Amino acid sequence: MTTLQAPLRVVLSLGSNLGDRMANLQGAVDALFDAPGLEPVALSPVYETAPVGGPQQEAFLNAIVVADTVLGPYALLERTQSAEEAFGRVREERWGPRTLDIDIIAFGGHVQNDSALTLPHPRAHERAFVLTPWADVDPDAAIGERGAVRDLLAVVEGQELHRRDDLVLRLPD
Ligand code: ATP
Ligand code: CA
Ligand code: CA
Repeated sequence: MTTLQAPLRVVLSLGSNLGDRMANLQGAVDALFDAPGLEPVALSPVYETAPVGGPQQEAFLNAIVVADTVLGPYALLERTQSAEEAFGRVREERWGPRTLDIDIIAFGGHVQNDSALTLPHPRAHERAFVLTPWADVDPDAAIGERGAVRDLLAVVEGQELHRRDDLVLRLPD
């Protein structure tokens, strides 16, 4: 396992639009923090969002997790992918429905263009379902040279999403 010296702040986006969506998101949170190397910092409210792109499908539940990690970027990607696999994600159609999707939105200030792991996430800046919960937990967040999340939010304000205060995710004890 690749480890880094000092922990870096990372931002993860969680989404589910198939099966028991809340159970999938809570399971993802539990699985992510079930092994050493990743420590929770903040967990956003849950938003319900109309799907962006892809075929006709059910609404997503989305949330943002902020964490500190000593894992390297690819070790974190493996952690997120094994959490996805644990929840039976079916990869049939790109941008199709899925039980669980975990994207790495930002990894410290890392910038890289590897297709296996592009950082920051190349589409985060145009997605209200990423920007809105992220701003809830970190109002001063920024996406590298794309700029401040609160400014980017103005550009995506037409995207349909609403906060589900009746649905609450919990960080592990
Ligand atoms: P999108 O990336 O537009 O949200 P998606 O989440 O549906 O689409 P996936 O099928 O989940 O796309 O992922 C395709 C591949 O993207 C993954 O196998 C992964 O290697 C790669 N990838 C590149 N950058 C990232 C990133 N920042 N976070 C997660 N996966 C990434
Ligand atoms: Ca995604
Ligand atoms: Ca993904």
